[in-house]
Amino acid sequence: MKPSTGPSVAVIGAGMAGSAAAMHLARRGARVTLFEQFGFGHDRGSSHGATRLFRIAYFEHPDYVPILQRAYALWKSLEAESGETLFHETGVLQAGAPGGGFMQGLAKAIADHDLPVAQLSASDIAHAHPQLTLPSHFIAYFEREAGFVMAGKTVETQIRLARDAGASLRPATPVLGWTPAAEGVSVETAAGAEIFDRAVITAGAWANGLLNLPKADVKPWPRTLFWRRPQTEGFALGRFACFAVEEEDGRFFYGFPAIDGDGVKVAEHSGGHAIARPEDRGDAPEPGESEAIDAFLAARIPALAGRPGKFQRCLYEVSPDHHFLIDRHPLSDRVVFAAGLSGHGFKFSPALGEALAAMALDGETPQHFRFLSLARFV
Ligand SMILES: Cc1cc2nc3c(=O)[nH]c(=O)nc-3n(C[C@H](O)[C@H](O)[C@H](O)COP(=O)(O)OP(=O)(O)OC[C@H]3O[C@@H](n4cnc5c(N)ncnc54)[C@H](O)[C@@H]3O)c2cc1C
Repeated sequence: MKPSTGPSVAVIGAGMAGSAAAMHLARRGARVTLFEQFGFGHDRGSSHGATRLFRIAYFEHPDYVPILQRAYALWKSLEAESGETLFHETGVLQAGAPGGGFMQGLAKAIADHDLPVAQLSASDIAHAHPQLTLPSHFIAYFEREAGFVMAGKTVETQIRLARDAGASLRPATPVLGWTPAAEGVSVETAAGAEIFDRAVITAGAWANGLLNLPKADVKPWPRTLFWRRPQTEGFALGRFACFAVEEEDGRFFYGFPAIDGDGVKVAEHSGGHAIARPEDRGDAPEPGESEAIDAFLAARIPALAGRPGKFQRCLYEVSPDHHFLIDRHPLSDRVVFAAGLSGHGFKFSPALGEALAAMALDGETPQHFRFLSLARFV
């Protein structure tokens, strides 16, 4: 490989966003240094574990849809280039009470973007998704071009491809701070200060320490994932789709087919609370979390109720309005960041990396990302 002569870029934080940015930047010829405070692939942030939902019909805000359409194409390219299976297009069954934010937001995203997402009748659900028991007044959509992506495996793959494209990797190297410098950015680690032409900050739940943007405060928000081992093959990959269900009271649950001996992964997306520091996450579920999952399963997926299984803690990194923060830093045009991915960022990974690379190298925020800028808090 020819040594790169492009601009030097420090990427700070090697979770989903940083690994994606490093890969795209290195492929575009930048001289990338990827800093990670812990070991690569660690389990203290937001990007570890097996799976994350991928959906395009986005109830959270219809303006995410064009980014997700780009991400869909890029997930396929990433699989082809890496030789890894990273995206399982199982389809996602999405259901909820008619007046709820989920069904209303979904209907708007589908209508605004004319998405090929079918509304299902009660008999369709009973026929195609017999594992689920839904109240007869619930609305349900099945999105075929949706499914799940592999989380830890994607981060590992993106870091490998970044390295193959020339990125230099610095695990176990916390960045202590940065300051604007003449014609660059000074990045400080325990080894001293180093000047880069540009920096990309992708520090997840640790973002506040590096961004210091009080109006766009990012809060660590622990959640727990649960697994339930089924008694039958009816929940295996190919026989059971991913699902997301909003209950009448607004609680929101989602889950995945069983992809290994651990069984079906199910979690509550709603609820929880912020904590002061990511380090305070804890390793055990909070009181009531396990009971909420069991009550949901008893009502909606009775064959999994009471079944044994493991759990895993993870951290959301929540912005004030639960939408992403993607912009350049007010103190320096040379510093761009993605933060506050608020528990729903993984599916965007390759498109987000592409956008961060464009912001750092071309000086322009791609059009579809502009609604996520800091301007909304000013
Ligand atoms: C339980 C759970 C379920 C989720 N489900 C879904 C889903 O179904 N679909 C979906 O799309 N998304 C989902 N998400 C959200 C998604 O996983 C996150 O939005 C995404 O992984 C965030 O990635 P990140 O790179 O911003 O943060 P992180 O993965 O936390 O990466 C930030 C990295 O920066 C490093 N770092 C921080 N500070 C420094 C420093 N000073 N120096 C060096 N390194 C530093 C950290 O150690 C960390 O490795 C889920 C998240 C969780 C926790």
